Amino acid sequence: MRSSIDEFEEKEKPDGYYERTLKELSDMNQKFHIFSRMPQSMEHGFQFSVKDNICVDGVESSASAEILEGYVPPFDATAVERMRGRGFSFIGKTKMDEFGFGTFGINCAEHPLNPINPEYVTGGSSAGAAAATAVMKYHVAIAESTGGSISCPAAFCGVVGFTPTYGLVSRYGLIDYANSLDKIGIMARRSADIRHVFDVIKGSDRYDTTCIDREVNADKRTKLIIVDQLMQNIDQAVLSAFDRFTSKLESRGYEVVHRSIPFIEKAIPAYYIISTAEASTNLAKYTGFKYGKKTEDFSQGYNEFFTEARSSLGTEAKRRVILGTFVRSASVKSKYYEKALRLRRMLIEAMGNVLSEGFIISPTMPIMPPKVEEAAGLDPVKAYSMDSITVPPNLAGFPHISFPYDYSGDFPMGAQLITSHFNDYALMDFAGAWEEDFEYRFKYNVGSL
Ligand code: GLN
Repeated sequence: MRSSIDEFEEKEKPDGYYERTLKELSDMNQKFHIFSRMPQSMEHGFQFSVKDNICVDGVESSASAEILEGYVPPFDATAVERMRGRGFSFIGKTKMDEFGFGTFGINCAEHPLNPINPEYVTGGSSAGAAAATAVMKYHVAIAESTGGSISCPAAFCGVVGFTPTYGLVSRYGLIDYANSLDKIGIMARRSADIRHVFDVIKGSDRYDTTCIDREVNADKRTKLIIVDQLMQNIDQAVLSAFDRFTSKLESRGYEVVHRSIPFIEKAIPAYYIISTAEASTNLAKYTGFKYGKKTEDFSQGYNEFFTEARSSLGTEAKRRVILGTFVRSASVKSKYYEKALRLRRMLIEAMGNVLSEGFIISPTMPIMPPKVEEAAGLDPVKAYSMDSITVPPNLAGFPHISFPYDYSGDFPMGAQLITSHFNDYALMDFAGAWEEDFEYRFKYNVGSL
């Protein structure tokens, strides 16, 4: 299928097109709280939005955190700079869970609502990115995933979400959550758009030494691997739909096999240990001096000053600072942090072996999108367990894509496909082939021509 980017370029734009599109988008934003910042007027061209934890020159970028309110970066993140350099037009900063801490997109002020039905969550943490993609016809979202923040909201909002191999896209200008896990990725309505944008943003960058120039492959696999441990605790409705999906794939010539991967069920605790350990050090710099919200009262004592500054962190952020500081403290770090690092090593190897045989396929999420109050009522450990399928590829840095494969009522169901490091194009080819005769449904088409 052609990319919407090519389609857009070829079409005549009627008079007043951009003004009308901006007006429609502002109305959507009022209803669904998608953007934290939107420009007053719309630049002409194909639009891209940027998750709020990725810096845009001159535009407040707060990672949807109160403590970073008022922070206006004086530079563009590399991915943003490259998008602009190729003629894409910036449409706004998309809301997210504070600093990326969350699975449902509800850990921020006036959180996004699912455009399919606003009583339901969008998924997180790239909540606004998915909602923007769900409402806008000619648009791509630059998003970010640490442990599933692209796959999950893409699945809940019925769009395609791609998380590249760790290190292929520069993280320069990203407000770090957990540096060894963070990946900038893309959401779009078509896989061809993702491919186009991936080619624009990937590649080495002198500002990020973990970013590499490597040839990216498109090695097709004919074997689809279902990892038994990833299929535990999945809702019946999701399971039955997924069975129908894999049967369809079999009839198209794929071979479906089952495998088990040692220790993959330990990915969640390992991920939450490593990610909170890194987050707790990253968040140490928000002291009310340098970035964002300033604490003005210098007459108070040292403890009062920092207590005031740090109290504007949200509940989930505080929880992670405490947990992360604990797991890397001298007396217990061998028991938690170092063990988690060993597990990650083992998982890279064990998953890598299985991935050399074929793609790993599964539903993206074990549940259908929950209602907002249902998600808000989950205790933290239960909420973390919802990442059981999206965390393993993120922990091990494997590229993965989530795309809609079925609908239950109005709601889409997303499948997640994982492949070996640097075989990223194969994912877009697979999803692209699926799109050839499966039509994604969009309730809104802001900016249609
Ligand atoms: N839900 C996971 C977390 O809260 C993933 C979030 C992310 O990828 N930013 O850590």
